[in-house]
Order: sequence, then structure tokens, then C-alpha cells
Amino acid sequence: MISSKIRLVILLTGCLSFCFTAYAQPSAKDGVLDLRQNDLDGEVELNGEWQFYWQQFVNPAAIPAKSDVRVQFPFLWNGYLLNGHKLPSFGYASYVLTIVMPKHTAPLRMSVPDVYCAYRLYLNGKLIASNGNATQGPDGFRAHWQYRAVDLPANTDTLRLVLHVSNFVHYRGGVKSPLALGPKAPMELARQRSEAIDLLLTGCLFMGGLFFLGLYIFGNRDKAVLMFSLYAIVYSYRIIGTDNYVLHSLFPDLNWYVAVRLEYMSLFAGIGIFGLYCRYLYPADSNKKVIAAITIVCFVFTGISLFFPAYYFSQLVNPFLVVMVFCLVYVPYLYIKAWRLKRPGSIYSLASSLALMGVFAISLLHYWNIVPQLQLLSFIGYISFFFLQSLVLSHRVSFVLTRARHEAEQGLVAKSEFLSTMSHEIRTPLNSVIGIGHLLLENDPRPDQQAQLQTMIFSANNLLGIVNDILDYNKIEAGMVTFENIPTDLPAIARNIVNSLATIAQDKAIDLRLNIDSELDFMVNADPTRIAQVLTNLVHNAIKFTNTGEVLVTLGLKKRSETELTVRFGVRDTGIGISLKNQALIFDRFTQADSSTSRSFGGTGLGLAISKRLLELQDSQLHLESEEGKGAYFYFDQIFAPGGQSLMVAAPAGQAPANPAAFSGLSILLVEDNILNVMVVQTFLKRRGAVIDVAGNGQEALAMLDTSKHRLILMDLHMPVMDGYEAARRIRAKGITIPIIALTANLPQDIQDEVHAAGIDDIVVKPFLPDELYRKVLHYVS
Ligand code: ADP
Repeated sequence: MISSKIRLVILLTGCLSFCFTAYAQPSAKDGVLDLRQNDLDGEVELNGEWQFYWQQFVNPAAIPAKSDVRVQFPFLWNGYLLNGHKLPSFGYASYVLTIVMPKHTAPLRMSVPDVYCAYRLYLNGKLIASNGNATQGPDGFRAHWQYRAVDLPANTDTLRLVLHVSNFVHYRGGVKSPLALGPKAPMELARQRSEAIDLLLTGCLFMGGLFFLGLYIFGNRDKAVLMFSLYAIVYSYRIIGTDNYVLHSLFPDLNWYVAVRLEYMSLFAGIGIFGLYCRYLYPADSNKKVIAAITIVCFVFTGISLFFPAYYFSQLVNPFLVVMVFCLVYVPYLYIKAWRLKRPGSIYSLASSLALMGVFAISLLHYWNIVPQLQLLSFIGYISFFFLQSLVLSHRVSFVLTRARHEAEQGLVAKSEFLSTMSHEIRTPLNSVIGIGHLLLENDPRPDQQAQLQTMIFSANNLLGIVNDILDYNKIEAGMVTFENIPTDLPAIARNIVNSLATIAQDKAIDLRLNIDSELDFMVNADPTRIAQVLTNLVHNAIKFTNTGEVLVTLGLKKRSETELTVRFGVRDTGIGISLKNQALIFDRFTQADSSTSRSFGGTGLGLAISKRLLELQDSQLHLESEEGKGAYFYFDQIFAPGGQSLMVAAPAGQAPANPAAFSGLSILLVEDNILNVMVVQTFLKRRGAVIDVAGNGQEALAMLDTSKHRLILMDLHMPVMDGYEAARRIRAKGITIPIIALTANLPQDIQDEVHAAGIDDIVVKPFLPDELYRKVLHYVS
């Protein structure tokens, strides 16, 4: 089987040989092109031996004396050795050719490309085309480059062409591209197609360049992206403003002296910019000095093209070929290196340089008149080149974005870890503050001390609320919130909230009322903690922002079916209300309706943001109706699945009041390293008559545990030497089933899986109220 590379070579050779054969053309001899054997059904280039008259404009109307000089058309005269003298660039001359035509032809057309740098073309004595003003001296001379096409009279047996050319501006003089003769319709179509391809390619490159420029300006400021955009824009000019000169056909008045500068500048600057592009694309792999040398040459040449006359800068093309050939070797070398070093997107760079090589090969072969222009193939090559380069950049941009996202995600993880550590650290001492506050309250303080203690506990609880809010918001943002779906008694939740906030309302002399739909007599499947959190927040706000009047909490059944219950939760107050402008703001984090709010009412501005997000995560929306000064109504509808039980038979949720007698003589092992916490828990429990042994860490606990005596273990989780999880695991490994309750400053939902896996039965979250601890302990020992 032939390898794919060999197959490619065969294919290419096949294509080229086809091109060569297709390109075999008749040739003029001794100033005469005999086309009698040619039926002219395809385009014929008028190449071969033309008569040449140096420094003469022969009379087109008369048959001139034969010139001694024959030149191979197309013919540039500069540097040509005539009578022992090298011809200069500046001067004028006539080219003459006689064409003997076939008998019958279809309507014909002759195409005349641009020459250096002005001409007049006569056919059988009549002027048929001209560019600029061809003169015999610099006076009145005007250069112009534009493609022209002339329709020829049918059935003429002889065509005598006289071409007057003059040049007083360019380093080259004479004719570089062939004139062509052929059937009108296909030639017209070919030209239209060629212009269309140029326009299309220009549009693609220009828009691509603008796109990448936008990406650079508004995006990542990657210099490789900037250079590529500039390169594409500059190169787009070259497609339309050189070779076929489509731009000059579109704008026939385009000033030659401007256009020629742009043509050369775009060539030099284009390569320089491309060098910089490669440099920024692969900074570690490209040689700084080599790129610097290329860029300097390119930009010096660009400068010369801008400021010097065309005669000088038009000579720079030949030395510049050296730079181009060097780039043709260096750039693929660089791309191969980048590819071997596995730089992102480098495989596309490599493929693109192959495409560019193809384009250069075609234009070189065409330059040497070996193949025709093969414009479509070049077009495909260019498009592939720019497309592949865009892929390199897209790959690079998305690589940077992926890395940035990864870093951001890591940052988010670090932030949430930091916040949970901080909140843990803050909650632990708060436990002592609140615990000791409660202990002191139980010690018969003086009335003034009692008021101070209550303020202290209130402030500590506030602080705890803030810490919890920040932690919660952080978790919502990090997408780490999960919801429970367990049978829940919604009216009980509402009653509990109203009861727990009743004292605050009473203190402000506000009427706090609860109105529950009598039809709401079913348990539903829901997350009771989150519902309580949202509702508490709304009721708490309503009380906070109401100075007179009432707060009404409502639970209404909006819709009921076999499978779904829609419940509307509402909190209406007669407080300060919220202006329309602020209604849009208060759901954002850390935003309060008015900056004086936090001074007069306290708060962080997180509560509503959290409530809103929590509801959204459960497909519900928090709504607000309010008018400034006339109170506010917050409400949301939530859809639940029935929880199976009627509330009439529902078991009361483990809220049995603590029975003080049950503690008497109860032996508990307290495992805790923080002495203040030891003091708080010990004092709470000893007051009820429990007997407490204290271990400072897990290892001590294992040594001290006496199953014949201890009825329960209260275990801190974070301790030196051996933590609570490990201690619990070892206790369970010994087959001991004594209840273990974890004391932790972490949020239960964060640790419950780990706690469960370690064999721990329950969690009490610090800071806790004495009653909470009593209830949990009693639940496990009774
Ligand atoms: P916080 O109460 O901690 O400031 P929230 O996010 O709960 O934060 O509330 C944001 C803001 O919305 C409050 O500061 C207040 O300006 C306004 N607001 C919330 N509830 C009410 C209400 N019932 N009446 C008037 N304004 C309210």
C-alpha cells in the first residue's frame, strides 16, 4: 500500500504537469503571432517576439519600418542591453505586434493589465485603451495602474497592436504581465470571478482582523491577538490593492502615488507584523534577535516607502525577497518547534504554514511564468492559512479562559474554605460568650446586670447571625447548597418562628399575628430548615422595619391536587416601606435600602439576597409589594409534594421539654480541648445534677471511657492528638454502642456525612442554648 505522503506527492506532481500542459501557449515570432490554426475558444496570451522601439512612439496609423530589436513579450526594459548600453528605468518605447487571426471567431475581448507605468494601446491605428499619461519626458507624465478590457470587432483578419509605454517614476519600465486575447464571455466571467474572489478574501481578512482587534481591545490584551489582527487588516489591503488591482478598478481616480506607497508599505509592514505575531505567539521558542532583525528591516523599508520617491522604494523588493525566503524557512521551523514542545494550538500553526507555503509556491511559479495565476487555489490556501491561524488564537484565548476559570474556581474554593474556617473560629469563642451569658443569667443577677447580660447575649447572637449569613451566601454562590426533602409540618414551622420572635415584637409594641389556612392540614415534603430560614428572615425584617402597627404572617393553600400543593407564604407589615427605586436593589447582596438603615436597624444586607437565591434554587420567586411609608408585603409561592401524613395524626417533632430529674447522677464523658467550652458545658450539665468526666482529646477519651459508668459521650470534633471522628471510629470498632453526640462549630449539613460514617449519633451545634443541649442529651439517655 502506498503511504499517504507518497500519494500526496503523486497528486501534486499530477496537478503541476496538468498545469504545464494546459499552459502551453502559441508564441509570436519576429513580431507576428499567427493564430490561424487556433480557433480562439480559450484565452491566448500575446507572448513571444514583439518589435521594440526604444525612445520612440511609432505612429500607430502608419505601418512603421521594422525594428531591429525583437524582445520577448512581456518585456521590462530596465537593465536590458541594447547596442552595448544598459537601458535605464526611465524612458519610453513602443511595442508592436501583428496578429493573424483565424477566419471565424466568436465575439472577442482583449485584456490589458497594468504596465510600468503609463501606456496607450492602438489597434489597427485606433486608440483602444490607455492608463495614465504616457509622455516622452517627465513633463506631464502621469502613472496609473488599472486592468482594462477591450471588445474587438468581429471577423478582422489582422490585428496590428501598437503599445506606447513610458515610465518616469518607477524602478521598473515596460510591460511585466501579458496581454491576452480570447472569447468575450468566458474572459469576462473569468475576470468577474477573479474580482469576486479578491473581494471575498479581502472582506474575510478585514472582518477577521477587526474581530481580533475587538477581542484585543475589549478582551484579554494578548499582543499575539493584536498582531494577528493588524496583519489580517494590512494583508487585506494587499489582496485588493495589488496584483489584480480590483481597488483601482472600483476607484479609477485613485491616486497612483498614494496607492503605490500603500502597496509597498503593506508588503514590508505585513511581514514585520507577522514576525512580531510569531514572537508573541511562541515567546519561549522564537529567537528574539532574529525576530528583532526581521522587524527592523521591515519597518525601515516601510519608512522608506512612506517618505522616499517610488523610484527608490520600488527597488527594495529584490533585497526584501531575502527576508521573505528567510521567513519561509524560519516560520515553519518555529512552528515545528512549538508543535514538538506541545504548545497550545501549535498543530494549527503548522498546518497554516503549509497552506501559506502552497500559496507562495503558486505565486512564485506564476512569477516565473511557469503556471497561470491559479487564483482559486491561492484563495483556498489563504483562507486555510487565516482560518488555521484564527484557530491558533481561538485555542489560545480559550486556553487562557480555561486557566482563568480554573484559577477562579480554585480562588472560590480557597475563599469558601477560608470563610468556613473563619466562621468556625468565630463560632467557637461565641459559644463560650453565649454559654457563659446564660449561666450568669441563671445566677440571680441584679436587675441592671440582667439587662447588661441580655444585651451581651443579644449582640453575640447578632454576630452569630452575621457569620452564619456570610457562610450561607458563600455556599450558595459556590453552588454547594443541597436541599432536604422530608415530611414537614409547615404550620408548625410558622408557629415556632412567630413564637420565637414574639418577644422582639412585644418589645416594640407591635402586633405580631399568624394566619394559617385551615385547609393546610397536611404534611408536605420540603426542606424545613431552609423554609424556616427564609420565613424567619422576612418576619424578622418586618418587625425590624416597623415602628407602629402590626406584622401579619400568612400561610395560604393556593392550589391542591393529588400530587401537588401550592402554598403562599406572606409577611405583611405596616412599617417604613421601600421606595420603588430601592425595591430593585435590596435583593442584591450587602445592599440596604438606605445607608442609614444599618445604623438605625442593624443588619448586613445579606438576608434578602440569601432568601431570594434559596427560593430560586427551589424554583420559587420572592415577590415584594411596597410603598414608601406604607409598609411592605413580601410573599412567595412554593410547590410541594404531599408528605403523606395528615397533621391530625402527625407525631410532634421531638420537642419534649427537658425533664430536670432525669439528669440526676447521669454520668457523661465530655471530650473537649477548649477549657472555656468545658466550663460552659460542665456548668450547664452539673446544674442539673449530671456527673461529668473531662478528657482533653480523643486519645484520653479512649483511655478514660468506662462503659459500666458513662451513659453518653459529648465529643468535640476538632482536637489535638486525636480528633473526635477518629476517637468515635475507634470506640465503635471496639463494639461499644454508647451514644455519642458531637459538639461542633461547623454547620451540620457540611459534616453530617462524615459524622455519620464515624458512628456519631447526633450533632449539637455551637453556640447552643442550654435547653437544646438538655433535650438532645435526654433524648439519647432515656
Ligand atoms: P438587612 O436586614 O440585614 O439589612 P436584608 O437583605 O434582609 O438585610 O434587607 C435589605 C434591606 O431591605 C434592608 O436593609 C431594608 O432597607 C430593606 N428591607 C427589608 N425588609 C424590609 C421591610 N419589611 N420593610 C422595609 N424595608 C425592608
